Amino acid sequence: MARDYYDTLGVSRTSDQKQIRQAYRKLARKLHPDVNPGDKNAESRFKEVNAAYEVLSDAEKRKKYDRYGDRWQYADQIEEAQRQAGTRFRARPGGRQEFTFDFSDADNPLGQGLGSLFDLFRGGGRRGRPQPRATEVPVDITLEEAYNGTTRVFELTSQERCATCGGSGEIAGAACHVCQGQGVVLKPHRIEAKIPAGVRDGARVHIRSGEIGDIYLKVAVRPHERFERRGDDLYTDVTVPLTVAVLGGEARVKTLNGEVALTVPRLTQNGKTFRLAGLGMPNPNGAAKKGSLYARVKVVLPEKLSAKEEKLFEELKALGA
Ligand SMILES: [Zn+2]
Repeated sequence: MARDYYDTLGVSRTSDQKQIRQAYRKLARKLHPDVNPGDKNAESRFKEVNAAYEVLSDAEKRKKYDRYGDRWQYADQIEEAQRQAGTRFRARPGGRQEFTFDFSDADNPLGQGLGSLFDLFRGGGRRGRPQPRATEVPVDITLEEAYNGTTRVFELTSQERCATCGGSGEIAGAACHVCQGQGVVLKPHRIEAKIPAGVRDGARVHIRSGEIGDIYLKVAVRPHERFERRGDDLYTDVTVPLTVAVLGGEARVKTLNGEVALTVPRLTQNGKTFRLAGLGMPNPNGAAKKGSLYARVKVVLPEKLSAKEEKLFEELKALGA
């Protein structure tokens, strides 16, 4: 590896042009072939000193060298590549994203160090022309959230080319301090995802993100203690006191967003199911029609009896009811 130009001239990185010129002249006089005839070592050092001075004496070249080290000659290309990396997903009409980043050319001097970027990008993939891959995020929601629709906010990170070292992982021969020599840095993205009302367990909800690409939420709807779901329909039990089941009356049925009154006809048998249209789940595809809520009657017997009730039940028993 070539020596650092500053080291070659024996100057610090903060030296001004005058100090650099003085250091160069001193070394050039000392190492000049005329002064050291036949000294191969002096000759090669003389060449290094000249090469270092050529770059460090030119403000523009020195700036590039400070930033890109040995690859300073590619500074313009590196910066162009960074510019493209910054807009890697270029939004197109219709909301589609296009991957515009291509360093598949193995001879491209910029290709060095970028392979790792592509290998790491979303957990690896093919060499050559990379394609953004869909990210899947597991999401756990309650049935109430599925009923109303909900939002989840989470953070995803993407691998971005390190702007400090241009993706090379090194600066002037040393490991880049920003990316620790990896050439890539993790960039966090805050994603706010809307989960539509009516979403079903196991559904994949597609989220578009300009920065991350396609994101799929893999939705798991937790089981509910009171409701069982089948498609867009819900099933629940409704407790009905014995007297109401026998004589008719009203029972309260809990729904996912409140409570409704159910008219219980006379002589309603235990286990009878009533259909409450429109009180089930919304349709996840946006159809206006909701599913039904099926309320299954669970007749509840008294747990204790007053003296009077006891007497009445005795009379019923005597009647053979
Ligand atoms: Zn870096």
